[in-house]
Amino acid sequence: MSRFFTKRYSSLVPYVPGEQPNDASYIKLNTNESPYPPSPGVIAAASEEAGKLRLYSDPECAELRGKLSSLYGIKPEQLLMTNGSDEILNFAFMAFGDEDHPLIFPDITYGFYTVYADLNRIPYAEIPLTDDFTIDPNDYIGAGKNIVIANPNAPTGISLPLNVIEEIIKSNPDNVIIIDEAYVDFGGESAAFLIDKYDNLLVTQTFSKSRSMAGARLGFGIGNEKLIADLNAIKYSTNPYNINRMTASAGAAAIKENDYYMENCRKIAETRDLTARKLREMGFKLTDSSANFLFAESDRIDGGALYRELKKRGILVRHFDNERIKNYNRITVGTPEQMDSLIRAVDEILKELS
Ligand code: PMP
Repeated sequence: MSRFFTKRYSSLVPYVPGEQPNDASYIKLNTNESPYPPSPGVIAAASEEAGKLRLYSDPECAELRGKLSSLYGIKPEQLLMTNGSDEILNFAFMAFGDEDHPLIFPDITYGFYTVYADLNRIPYAEIPLTDDFTIDPNDYIGAGKNIVIANPNAPTGISLPLNVIEEIIKSNPDNVIIIDEAYVDFGGESAAFLIDKYDNLLVTQTFSKSRSMAGARLGFGIGNEKLIADLNAIKYSTNPYNINRMTASAGAAAIKENDYYMENCRKIAETRDLTARKLREMGFKLTDSSANFLFAESDRIDGGALYRELKKRGILVRHFDNERIKNYNRITVGTPEQMDSLIRAVDEILKELS
């Protein structure tokens, strides 16, 4: 730390992203990317736009916002595009949280929530998940605090049904409820259509997972016009050109080719369920995931050891040190061939133990 770093930030514990190795030799099942490439129209749109990089991007993202709002049946004013959904989450924490507006979220969830809360000096409480890693809705119904819930949750993949999400939103009318739907396209139910009914709901989504664009950094928020206007105030006070030209153009092309991405989601869900079955047959305990990853533990091998053994065999999965989940690994669902390699490697590792 330099002697210039202000007290305000010097105690920050930054988010630790998953490993992003530069060599492509790994089967990469550690950061929930899609195993399928962007569609041809997306590649063409990004390449074409590269020729226009001399010019600033459109701060309104008009074309992309128009296409996406039609897809979701909402008004463009109910939509804000951001640099990944991480950015909309940070904007929302900045806009709606402070010492008078504390925040609650589960103890096992997306690791960025504590970081953004600390960054923005928002008091927060982490509510323990139940023993089977589910969210107890009663912890949130009528809580009278701002809430962020990932649905499906990460790294468990477990979803809450929409009627429960609605109950949480309805019972906290004076608090902002953020539903982080980064993984919704793989089997969850979106709360997006509730925005006309509840002015305290913000839904966040991303092109990183279901639309194969993690490297382009494109996310968005859906909410009541007034909430979105507040978030725009934050955006225009930090970085109006938060979406670069290539990403905006690629995003619009991805919406045009939405069927390709939804078919990929279906394939991924199918591969997920098949892989879960195989792991269960090998004695693993898994949560009931409706996301593009599995969350698995075995009583035959420690979670950290399995992570290391898989890495030695060229397969990267995500292991967290958090005490409650340290025996688990989060495994992104890849192609059927990649998952066959995973199963073969796990089988070999378990056989070597016995
Ligand atoms: N929410 C959750 C639950 C996530 O797991 C992630 C991915 N790390 C994000 C949001 C942010 O993803 P992105 O910024 O790529 O949209």
